[in-house]
Parts: sequence; C-alpha cells; structure tokens
Amino acid sequence: MDIHEYQAKEVLSNFGVAVPEGALAYSPEQAAYRARELGGEKWIVKAQVHAGGRGKAGGVKLCDSDVEIHEACEDMFGKKLVTHQTGADGKGIYRVYVEAAVPIEREIYLGLVLDRSSQRVMIVASGEGGMEIEDISAEKPDSIVRAIVEPAVGLRDFQCRQIAFKLGIEPGLVQQMVRTLQGCYRAFTELDATMVEINPLVVTGDNRLLALDAKMTFDDNALFRHPQIAELRDKSQEDPREARAADRGLSYVGLEGNIGCIVNGAGLAMATMDTIKLAGGEPANFLDIGGGATPERVAKAFRLVMSDKNVQAILVNIFAGINRCDWVAEGVVQALREVEVDVPVIVRLAGTNVEEGQKILAQSGLPIIRASTLMEAAERSVGAWRNDLSQGVKVRAVS
Ligand code: GDP
Ligand code: MN
Repeated sequence: MDIHEYQAKEVLSNFGVAVPEGALAYSPEQAAYRARELGGEKWIVKAQVHAGGRGKAGGVKLCDSDVEIHEACEDMFGKKLVTHQTGADGKGIYRVYVEAAVPIEREIYLGLVLDRSSQRVMIVASGEGGMEIEDISAEKPDSIVRAIVEPAVGLRDFQCRQIAFKLGIEPGLVQQMVRTLQGCYRAFTELDATMVEINPLVVTGDNRLLALDAKMTFDDNALFRHPQIAELRDKSQEDPREARAADRGLSYVGLEGNIGCIVNGAGLAMATMDTIKLAGGEPANFLDIGGGATPERVAKAFRLVMSDKNVQAILVNIFAGINRCDWVAEGVVQALREVEVDVPVIVRLAGTNVEEGQKILAQSGLPIIRASTLMEAAERSVGAWRNDLSQGVKVRAVS
C-alpha cells in the first residue's frame, strides 16, 4: 500500500527525519489560509497523488501570493494529474499540501528498498538528487552509493557516516545525515515498509538537511500489525478494479490485455498468464480466488472481471486441492446465469472432484468451452478471443 507525501513526512518525522513545515488543504481557500498560518513569503503547493514525477507534470508549484496559491490550486483540485508514473488515466487530485518554500543548496537522492538478491534492506543514495533514480542509474551510475544492512545488527552509524562521506556531505551535517538514515531505517523495519524514498533530500541555504519529498510503500500482508498505517489508505488513488476486489477479499491486478483470468493461487495465476502469452494472447488481469472458493466467490470474481471493458474472453483455470472442482463448476454456472457474461468462457478444471465438476458444466447446457490441459485452455481462450475457434463458430455464453 502506498501513502501520500504528507503522510510519509509525518511518519518519518516521528522517527527523527527533518521535514519542512507544511499543512494539508482540501480546497483553494483552505490552501491560502494554511499558507498564511505557516507564514513566510513563498510557498510550495503540492498535489497529493500516489505517484512521483509531479514536479514535471505541473503538480508542484512555487507561489508567492494568495492569488498564486488560488490559481495553482484551481489547476489542481478535481483534475487528474498525469505523470510518467500514473499511466495515461492519471490520478485524481483531492488534497494539496502547502509548505513554506525552502532555499535549496543541494539535492540528494535517498532510497531504502528490499534487495531481493541479498535478501536485505538496501540503502541507495546519490548526490544527483531531484532526478528519478531510473534516470540517475542510466545517466550517472557512478554517483550511486549502496549499502546493505545486516538484519542481525541493524544499520550501524559507521555505515551512515560512510554514505555521508561518499556523497560529499560537509562535516557539519554528517551527524544530521546519520540521524536521517537511522530514522528512515527504523521507520522501514518497524512499520514493515517495502520502500522509503526521499527525493530530494536537500541541504538548505541555512545549512539544514531536510526531506523535501517523501514516499513510502508498505507490505499489505503486514498492515494488520499497523492499524495507524492501514488507516492512511486512500482508495481514490487506487485502480478502482483493484480496490473493489480488495474490498471483496479477492486479489486482483488489472493488466492491459483482453483475456480475463480467474485462477486459484498466485503461482497458477502466473503460469496461466505465461501460457496465455505463449499462445499469443494478452491477459487482462490476474485474479486469484484463493483456496476454498464457494460458488458465491466465483460469481463475485466473474462480476469483477466483467466490469473491465477490455475483457473479451474469460479463462477459468482451477487446480483444486483445498478447492473442489464441483463447487467451482457450480460457481461458474451460477455466475453465467446471474451475471451478464457476453464473452466466451473457457474452463479448465483439475484435481479434487474433477469428474463431478465436468459433469456440472456439461449438464448446464451453457456454451462453456472446456479444456483439459493448461496449454489447451490457453489456446482455446486465445482462439475464442480471436474468434477463430477450430469449430469455426463463435461460442458465447448467454447472458
Ligand atoms: P515529484 O516531482 O513528485 O518527485 O515532487 P517533489 O516533491 O520532489 O518536487 C519536485 C521538485 O520541486 C523538487 O525536486 C524540487 O526541486 C522542487 N521543490 C519542491 N519543494 C521545494 C521547495 O520548498 N523549494 C524549492 N526551491 N524547490 C522545491
Ligand atoms: Mn520527488
């Protein structure tokens, strides 16, 4: 789960990371009022969306009067901000964060990520802040400093000092850098984050080290341990298909293709998507109905997949261990009777009670395309989608 910049700044400041003074606003009037409260003569108005690259997309504006704050906000509220990270649809702006502007002397990149190959938290830093890390690694790879944290001993101060020296941070700010790194690391581990990014971390004109931007991502599976973080969820920033699925206890990932996948288990979902691609198609989603799927759950899954307008065929691929093929088959039949499904439906069942499951499908009288192997299922799905099934007829499930 992602959170907003202003939330990440609050979280990190509780761990000792210095951030500029700022305040949240839900309207242009409130933003101007907040700026007056903050004082000073220049402010930064920042669109709060779950994406980076806002600066280049017009989501970060420097203002030096009430009027300018109003204008900046009018361009933001209710609009969709499209950055290179949001996809073409963009993300809605419903909150802005107003900060007292800070004179920047130097911009630094700082990130903490899970490095899967070393299975450790890795700190990534660069003196070339302000640019995205992808651009830094493409254009200035030598500027990147990396450090791995041994979980048994945690992040050591000497490692922090080493990073500070490599970045050329002046001696007077090294202790502040240690504090910033330790704060980020503690926030990362204690809150089960998967990513903390401060870009830029700046040296100000008056020689302070401040996090001017902040991003945090958390492990969804650990959110139950951190209700104060779970509470920060903002559904307006999520793919509506994925948010709906999460509310129904299904894991769903929307993709760009046309073949909807209803599968049990993440591994089987991966294999199904691979096989669809191998057969020449593109998956429209990844939907895992999990173990012990009841007919109701299968019907919910159909509703969800059908709500994606790009879906032109649905492949149900179930390997029943804990699940039962007869239940899944009942779910498919029930769904096709209740939900408006006007695209071909391909079903491959294997495992527990597979004969009963096949019988239910066959006796339903519904135009369900059956397949016995995964490859066959993928080929038939792609075939049905391309409308050139070997039978030469377009098979459609009735609504
Ligand atoms: P992002 O584009 O979504 O990563 O948004 P950022 O919060 O990083 O803002 C983009 C850029 O705006 C930063 O890299 C800074 O160069 C600039 N910026 C943000 N806040 C301030 C500020 O207080 N003072 C000045 N001078 N520039 C700022
Ligand atoms: Mn940034």
